[in-house]
Amino acid sequence: MKNIYSGIREQRRDTDTFTDWGGGSIDASERFPKKCLGRADRVFSQGLQCRQTNSVMALLSMEDSVFVLHSPLGCTGCCCMANDWFRVGQLHRGNYAMKNARVIVTNLDNRDIILGGEEKLRKAIRLAYTRYQPKMIFVFTSCSSGIIGDDIEAVVAEVSEEIPSIVVPVHCEGFKSKICASGYDSAFLAFSQYILKDAPKGETENDLLNLFAPPTVSYIDQTEIERILGDIGIRVNYIPFYSSLEKIRKIPNARASSAICKVFADEFMKELYEKYGIPYSHTIMPIGTRNTDKWLLGIAALFDKTAQAQEYIKEEYTKVRPLVEELKSKLSGKRVFICGGTGRSFAAAALIDDFDMKLVGMETPVYDNDTQSDLEYLNRLYGNFTLDIANMMPYEQVNLLSKLKPDVFIGVPVWAAKLGIPTTHILDIKRPTMGYRNLVYLGNKILYQIENPGFNKKIAAHARLPYKKSWYDEDAFKYIK
Ligand code: SF4
Repeated sequence: MKNIYSGIREQRRDTDTFTDWGGGSIDASERFPKKCLGRADRVFSQGLQCRQTNSVMALLSMEDSVFVLHSPLGCTGCCCMANDWFRVGQLHRGNYAMKNARVIVTNLDNRDIILGGEEKLRKAIRLAYTRYQPKMIFVFTSCSSGIIGDDIEAVVAEVSEEIPSIVVPVHCEGFKSKICASGYDSAFLAFSQYILKDAPKGETENDLLNLFAPPTVSYIDQTEIERILGDIGIRVNYIPFYSSLEKIRKIPNARASSAICKVFADEFMKELYEKYGIPYSHTIMPIGTRNTDKWLLGIAALFDKTAQAQEYIKEEYTKVRPLVEELKSKLSGKRVFICGGTGRSFAAAALIDDFDMKLVGMETPVYDNDTQSDLEYLNRLYGNFTLDIANMMPYEQVNLLSKLKPDVFIGVPVWAAKLGIPTTHILDIKRPTMGYRNLVYLGNKILYQIENPGFNKKIAAHARLPYKKSWYDEDAFKYIK
């Protein structure tokens, strides 16, 4: 029987997936293949990033679209962040008359939870059409709509008869997965089930690459990636950030697929291979020279351009290496803690190799087969370091940071800054991070923070974290059982 992917990462059959674990990195990499990492859970949890958030973030910049959240009002909180990214992205792309994303929420309340919310959804989709006449209307489900069992498919099928817009359900109920990347998968499942459906392959465009990119990739990173690929003769169909119906319909015509993030669109690329025979490269995020090389060579091989890419890498090195070496002389030996999404954390950890820094700790939301190969590489590079498998557990993070005392924290900086540790971001949709040129910017950003720690020191002097002193002496992983 064909293995149909449900969009829930915990249910994938070809990998074990862990979301709750803490300990040494070497211990983790030895336990995982023996299947004895342990099915743990946290008996105390400080909240997870919701799957719906990732679905909304992935799609909110789609052109000529309206977004209907079939949820209570509170679920729209994530839209503020995604809308901010959308607005900044417009500005970076030269559009100074920035617009807000068009979001409608059905505002499910107590009454709807008892009597059902289908009528509200019908009205919301009709309103989306009469108000905006978009090409696409995305309907996001929520915990509430999932728990009460509203028949989203039936409502969508019924209203689709009345209006010319393509109505696309995105099944992203938060409670169904502890892995927020499942929300990205829900968005891609929606593309394949409701937009591409049984679309034929069409004529292959031999220089065209489907490049799947999460919304956290800045415009300057997008242009750097397109520059690198363009220089070896590869054109990019960039999806889904600032994408369109036309670009989605072009997907089957590409010669190959790849993604900027390792946990983004990986299941969708498998599906495209099975359905259209489109080969794909699934390597690592292009942060740092080693990863950018690996990422580029993976794609180049699909276009028979390996030799050309190798020559190109040499040329890029001649421009970038002297600057990286200069940064390395200043950053060498600095101790680093990294926290980010799975794809970004592991890619950024290898970046530290460029600057001869020392990895002392890492927080990643998920551990699976892909992570295992990356962790084995990092263990060879740095030896043992502390690994926390956690989707946003600040209480564990501050405990670890106060013990490990890194020279710099790379990742979501809020809590580390309150401890007075120099911080910088790699999940930065407004600044450069990826490719050869942007490595220099990133290195300078890290150095700047280390040399100018005053701001975070002042924050630490005036802001208090909400934990008792005794917590910092406890085992950080005390609540993982
Ligand atoms: S979908 Fe569920 S987890 Fe996500 S914001 Fe709404 S209530 Fe929270």
